Amino acid sequence: MSNEIIRESVLTCPECGAQTKQTMPTDSCQYFYQCPECNALLRPKGKDCCVFCSYGSVPCPPVQAAMGSTR
Ligand SMILES: [Zn+2]
Repeated sequence: MSNEIIRESVLTCPECGAQTKQTMPTDSCQYFYQCPECNALLRPKGKDCCVFCSYGSVPCPPVQAAMGSTR
């Protein structure tokens, strides 16, 4: 019953290590993210659906919802 969707994720840039707190949109995935420190354009790794799943401290809301709901 306590499946709260976390909306804030800390993105860590793989290029320069800068950490930026971002608020995630709950209904969409963010596929690109540009690091404010080094301007690197981040893209999801492998099969990840968005940059938050690859570089964020918390996966994106749709993934959290999928993990929370037992199917
Ligand atoms: Zn960077």
